Amino acid sequence: MKVLVINAGSSSMKYQLLNMEDESVMATGLVERIGEATGKMIYKKFPDTDAEAKVERDDHVPDHRAAMHFVVDMIKDAEYGVIKDMNEVGAIGHRVVHGSDYFKSSVLVDEAVKEVIRKIIPLAPLHNPSAITGVEMAEELIPNVPNVAVFDTVFHQTMPERAFLYAVPRSLYEEQKVRRYGFHGTSHKYVAQQVATLMGKKLEEMNVITVHLGNGCSMAAVKNGKCVDTSMGMTPLAGLMMGTRSGDIDPAVLTYVGEHKNMSVEEIDTMLNKESGLKGICGLNDMRDIHEKAARGDASCKLALEMFSYRIRKYLGAYAVVLGSLDAVVFTAGIGENDDIVRSMVLRDLDCLGIELDLDKNKGRIKASKVISTDASRVKTWVIPTNEELQIARETVAVLKH
Ligand code: ADP
Repeated sequence: MKVLVINAGSSSMKYQLLNMEDESVMATGLVERIGEATGKMIYKKFPDTDAEAKVERDDHVPDHRAAMHFVVDMIKDAEYGVIKDMNEVGAIGHRVVHGSDYFKSSVLVDEAVKEVIRKIIPLAPLHNPSAITGVEMAEELIPNVPNVAVFDTVFHQTMPERAFLYAVPRSLYEEQKVRRYGFHGTSHKYVAQQVATLMGKKLEEMNVITVHLGNGCSMAAVKNGKCVDTSMGMTPLAGLMMGTRSGDIDPAVLTYVGEHKNMSVEEIDTMLNKESGLKGICGLNDMRDIHEKAARGDASCKLALEMFSYRIRKYLGAYAVVLGSLDAVVFTAGIGENDDIVRSMVLRDLDCLGIELDLDKNKGRIKASKVISTDASRVKTWVIPTNEELQIARETVAVLKH
């Protein structure tokens, strides 16, 4: 079966067409700056093969309909296309950020599902509207092909109440659905399954901590294959320090700042989401830029790196205790895969957890799954490149076969 994966953001649309017979990528690309004066459209046919061909256009992309048109037109283009007719696509898998606790698994999209995703919009006002738009555009431009919704929250739905409830009046959960949901679930699930396969074990028999470090950062404690805790919360603002997001903070800071700096709720929200994290400490949010300045001796960049790594270490310790015993730790995403300095800052001196980093194996950017701990290390520590598109396609196939 061929599966088209759509990841629709508020001003972007990423897509990938996969042949699930061998899980190969037939086409991939993205449309950026939708709605702006000049947008960018990128299409790649058979990426990373000898047959690779790329089309890149800078042009106005008025809306998501136009973006989806570009995708459909390119995929069946006479010169660059990889199929003749969109009916060759067996299903479309959509990334949906928030599934609240309504969705315990990926689902086939029908009117009722769309209605629930719309209902959840207050929990994810920046993300769920574009997911709905993506589904509607697919229904309009690729009719007769089933759509499947794959949620970032689903993998974490196995958390027990003691982990997902906040210690606030219970009515906030019962009436407003205020609780920890967790995000990046597709990535955490993918790398957890990969590490089990690579270690020749069943995930149900393993305890793993997965560490996803991209622009957004989160960790998950996976016990016997099921997520039992994760660092992000009701929204993706909680937990680790991130590029521009604060992560955990004393909630009283918000009222204090509101009162003493006379900031509105919206201003505080913007500050915590866009002006905090690495950027708040050193003015930069791209890890590569931070390393460059830190290497030239910049004290605030060095501090940002220390704080970023320290928070991950605290969560490692917490999750090791939550799990009781630990078989593997997995690093993934932009920073997790590429940044040997951060990995070594996080993993140094962790004898207490049974983790012994091999500095040689850890060196450099890691493009294929690899162990970075020593042979003697009791807990195997891995870098495993994430592949959210493939995981969404796998989930999509599983829903249709069910
Ligand atoms: P997203 O969450 O948007 O998918 P990515 O997983 O692509 O993000 O990760 C983006 C982060 O990865 C950025 O902070 C970027 O600086 C970092 N990154 C990418 N390449 C490197 C590298 N070679 N060294 C260090 N950090 C890197």
